[in-house]
Amino acid sequence: MKGIEKFSLQGKVAFVTGGARGIGKAVATGFAEAGAHIVIADLDLAEGEKTAAQIAAANGVQAVAVKCDVTDPHSVNALIDTIEEKFGKLDIAFCNAGICINAPASEMTYEQWTKVININLTGVFLTAQAAGNYMIKKGIKGSIINTASMSGHIVNVPQPQCAYNASKAGVIMLTKSLAVEWATTGVRVNSISPGYIGTELVKANPTLIPLINTWNEMAPLHRLGEPEELQTVTLFLASDASSFTTGSDVVVDGAFTCF
Ligand code: NDP
Repeated sequence: MKGIEKFSLQGKVAFVTGGARGIGKAVATGFAEAGAHIVIADLDLAEGEKTAAQIAAANGVQAVAVKCDVTDPHSVNALIDTIEEKFGKLDIAFCNAGICINAPASEMTYEQWTKVININLTGVFLTAQAAGNYMIKKGIKGSIINTASMSGHIVNVPQPQCAYNASKAGVIMLTKSLAVEWATTGVRVNSISPGYIGTELVKANPTLIPLINTWNEMAPLHRLGEPEELQTVTLFLASDASSFTTGSDVVVDGAFTCF
């Protein structure tokens, strides 16, 4: 393969958790534009089906939606079974579903803490584990990409979000651990750490909306990122272009964490 061909995902199959909207939807669209068939795995099946239909129509690939709760091992196994039935293979897993709950550490309830850790860290573990085991069993040299965050590197201010920060730091180290354990199988595992991105996670959260101006003042680029600005870095990690890249975390934050 030469040059740009190394970035092709022609005929590959990718699942994207939290793919109905936001970052997941944008990345799934980017994968489809590069030729991949798409499985949108999301709690919200109706929205997932809408997204899958848009992606299929715009890119001439197959795209389906599967209802999946990443915190439930049965639901994650059912996702893999559906992929096996429909496509007979899985080349790319984008383990991306996540939430944020803001509460001061001294007041954070057990339920709030557990919910964030279950979705953001355990959910990534369960989906990456299921994808990795499937790829290894089938002899597929696949690529797993986990969504961490710049919050896995720095403590964001002024909003208090200790569970979120801890979950994302966990995703970065989980990624490195899986990359090392699976290195000789040909399955690669990397993560991305986005800065603030203008999705519903931010724009539909009433406690975060008033903070957007504050963050933009702090940000060297003075703006939020767009979900589509994560398409090319994830395409690189998903494709053969990154064949020597595993165990890496790629920060895409418009220099927010540089100082
Ligand atoms: P959104 O809230 O826009 O989208 C998240 C999607 O994940 C929703 O469709 C949601 O479904 C789904 N989801 C939530 N819980 C589960 C679950 N248990 N199982 C399956 N799907 C689920 O978020 P973003 O696109 O902004 O975020 C995507 C990822 O990127 C997250 O991991 C987030 O932490 C991370 N990130 C986001 C940043 C940002 O600034 N936006 C910055 C850095 C990282 P439903 O609508 O039904 O809840």
